Amino acid sequence: MSFVITTPLYYVNDKPHLGSVYTTIICDSIARYKRLVGEDVIFITGVDEHGLKIQRTAKEKGIEPRTHCDEISEIFNINWKKWDISFDRFIRTSSKNHELVVNEFYERVKASDDIYMGVQKGWYCVGCEEFKDNPENSSTYKCPIHQKNLEWKNEENLFFRLSKYQDQIDNIISDPSFIEPIERRNEIVNFVSKGLKDFSISRTNVSWGIPVPKHENHTFYVWFDALLGYVSALNTNTAIQSLEKSINDGWPADLHLIGKDILRFHAVYWPAMLISAGMKVPKKVFGHGFLTREGQKMGKSLGNVLDPNLLLSKYGNDPVRWYLIKDITLGNDGDFQDKRFVDIINNDLANTIGNLLNRTSSMSRKWFDNKVPNNNEITSENKLEYLAKRSVENYINNFNIYKLDQAANEVLSLAINTNLYLNDNQPWLLIKENDKLPVVKEIIYNVLESTRIIGLLLLPLLPELSSKINVQLGSTYQEDIPWEQQLKWGLLISNSPLPKPSPIINKLEYE
Ligand SMILES: [Zn+2]
Repeated sequence: MSFVITTPLYYVNDKPHLGSVYTTIICDSIARYKRLVGEDVIFITGVDEHGLKIQRTAKEKGIEPRTHCDEISEIFNINWKKWDISFDRFIRTSSKNHELVVNEFYERVKASDDIYMGVQKGWYCVGCEEFKDNPENSSTYKCPIHQKNLEWKNEENLFFRLSKYQDQIDNIISDPSFIEPIERRNEIVNFVSKGLKDFSISRTNVSWGIPVPKHENHTFYVWFDALLGYVSALNTNTAIQSLEKSINDGWPADLHLIGKDILRFHAVYWPAMLISAGMKVPKKVFGHGFLTREGQKMGKSLGNVLDPNLLLSKYGNDPVRWYLIKDITLGNDGDFQDKRFVDIINNDLANTIGNLLNRTSSMSRKWFDNKVPNNNEITSENKLEYLAKRSVENYINNFNIYKLDQAANEVLSLAINTNLYLNDNQPWLLIKENDKLPVVKEIIYNVLESTRIIGLLLLPLLPELSSKINVQLGSTYQEDIPWEQQLKWGLLISNSPLPKPSPIINKLEYE
């Protein structure tokens, strides 16, 4: 059994913004964690390339939609590599294989008698690629997300019988584990309780899309096609591309992590489409919040858009990951504040974790011949061992329910406790007393061992920093031994050499 996790398939109208970096980092962290606890992970990301908005964007640039999509999808692909995202699949919805899956899926839905021809009238946001439900003053109403006027549409479209699935959707969303967090679930329950309406799945004025078989001039509605990217991504053997193959290769997804604005598509339309095609529904849809900057919504017109790649080149990967994972509760809205960012990184990573490792390693090298002290004389469980065990347990419990901020805080609190232990015991005074050498050995060993565990716990959160901690301790994470087994207390090897310490993270300056 594999664990299938997905980011949204990002719309290629523009390069990745901080919001998409956020979603992708969270998915990456979960994927890394799941691999460490022994799951066979398939981490899917990719791009959603069709639709009117892309067609228009390409036209404005004076190029073919495909050329535009090639450019932007390559930017996404390269970008995720720069951020060290451990994705397994990168799906492009303009690929031939994807089209085959869409066609096969459509045939199944048609065979369930869920497709009919109708007239679609309504106000449409091209930015959202979505009809808005009867906004007041529709001709002057602006989409709250895109701040653009809606467009009136009146055309013949193919419709999907969503209304037929009212009871089944009611049933699916009544399971509290299906949609998280609870606030998002309540919104969907409220939306569904008003009664589901059929929705159109084809367009006649959009040439940049997958053609609907036997319906000239119709292309599939971009969402109908894009959601299936999660399925087509599963089949890597493109020689035998078929829906059945994708299903056998991992469907259903275990977790769709998305922004809260696209929850309806994932938690209502998508499950109904899947049931219609005789497929299983995803196990969980998690809608995270939006990011603001210094308390303000980011937007081109406000000129306050924060380019994630500037953050990356200025501060590096780990500081950005730490801030986004630890400072924002997954599911809530988050705020990026420059000063807060610098303070958190300096306090948590440079001072609390970095200094702890550095000074203990220096003491150990000085007093014990550049080595980890011998701990063979230690017999009783000490306070730090108890605290480390508790932190490991809490960390795992929180990670399992996607409380990544709490897992991160658990690592931090172990580092704080280890600093306290060191300061309480003052080995730098004890070392001056001749008979205290065994006690000093024990204290230093315990602190180094706790630091080793901190490093291992950071592996899914901050992969770079984690490996730097390992290197500094002369210890390595061993891929052939289960990670959880390596979290056991006492595995740091006595008398093993300690390399010369250097700062594992640089302090940041606030400008
Ligand atoms: Zn919109």
